[in-house]
Amino acid sequence: MIQIPKGCKDMLPADAYLWQAVEDTARETAQLYGFKEIRTPVFEHTELFLRGVGDTTDIVNKEMYTFLDKGGRSITLRPEGTAGVARAFVENGLQGGAMPFKAYYLISAFRYERPQAGRLREFHQFGAELYGAAAPTADAEAILLASRFLRELGLGDVTTLRLNSIGCKSCRARYAEALREHFRPHIGEMCEDCRERFTKNPLRILDCKNEGCKKFTADAPSMLDYLCEDCRAHFETLKQLLTQAGVAYIVDPRIVRGLDYYSRTVFEFTTDLIGAQATVLGGGRYDGLLEQMDAKPTPAVGFAAGIERLLLAMQAVETPLVERLPDVYVAGMDTASRQRALLLAEELRGQGLIVECDLMERSLKAQFKYADKLGVRYVVVIGENELNMGEAEVKHLSTSTAERVKFGEIAQYIKNSRRF
Ligand code: ATP
Ligand code: MG
Repeated sequence: MIQIPKGCKDMLPADAYLWQAVEDTARETAQLYGFKEIRTPVFEHTELFLRGVGDTTDIVNKEMYTFLDKGGRSITLRPEGTAGVARAFVENGLQGGAMPFKAYYLISAFRYERPQAGRLREFHQFGAELYGAAAPTADAEAILLASRFLRELGLGDVTTLRLNSIGCKSCRARYAEALREHFRPHIGEMCEDCRERFTKNPLRILDCKNEGCKKFTADAPSMLDYLCEDCRAHFETLKQLLTQAGVAYIVDPRIVRGLDYYSRTVFEFTTDLIGAQATVLGGGRYDGLLEQMDAKPTPAVGFAAGIERLLLAMQAVETPLVERLPDVYVAGMDTASRQRALLLAEELRGQGLIVECDLMERSLKAQFKYADKLGVRYVVVIGENELNMGEAEVKHLSTSTAERVKFGEIAQYIKNSRRF
């Protein structure tokens, strides 16, 4: 039997209520902030990610699923959501529309990584994008949305918001020099990636996951000491707004984020519950992105959360989420009543109940056993007698009591007694 490709995971019906709860919560929370959904293709021209993600990133350097299609075009499965949204924003003329532009996405993304707990080759993200607003209120709104989303999932108490500013082009250049100064004596002992980062983008060294490199990043200079006046004011206002909104954070100068297009605000929500891949959500401001894609310069801020990591965290806190179980099982004693059971089930569904009935031609006893396994609370039993009388026996599985109810009144009867 052919097996699933490495680094992929089946999402099975038994867990559906969990990931659907994450998706529902994402949609509902985004809506509260006026963000509307956007869907873009699963694949794009490779060039989009080279430009929009950046060629000093791990994603572009080693993680992309890239292939030539039958027309000889270089195509890449999206490794993240922002580049596609930015392309769609420009290509559909939305830059000329009302600002800010606010959109969210629920997507699968693809990265050729070494699979581990919380690190897959196909994974899922909830992300939000806010374009056109340069003020720190926009950064705050994105973080408030992210924070509320995590609270709604029951992860408010087990996640930490880590906040940093990586400045703008001008102050970051001075910082990059200071970092080179700091790493120069050690660079020979650091990993090959870091040696390349040293020349191309030394900030990315701070993001290295290699233990051997981490010991040299611990006492590296902090960007916060190099921020220009405007960047400092932006960061101070953001921190003040978060404090006033009651959102706790810690300033963590190690947070630089993996993508090249960030500027000023960067943030991550991390948790201790899920092992080494601790970041469940990351984001920040990327004012340079649209310009880098040859579009009109447009300020931008956003984030993306990894749904598999959220699910791991939710399982670790024993989420209070419960699955909605079927309300009713309609059991039939013989062929004629089983068929009537199907039709009765259909009527009850029309009245908003979750209903199952026998499709396996099981004995009555086996139907009860199955109904119990499904977790239903009421079994409606029909046989020849009930068909003649136009009423059924409704059994409460939890109390082992039963009552006779007319076919037409069953839905109301169950809805009434469900309240107790
Ligand atoms: P990491 O440092 O863990 O590699 P990243 O900086 O590459 O993360 P982003 O590109 O910012 O991650 O993606 C946003 C979020 O998507 C991450 O915080 C994480 O929760 C999730 N994510 C990223 N890569 C993977 C993956 N390979 N498998 C599962 N989730 C992932
Ligand atoms: Mg990564």
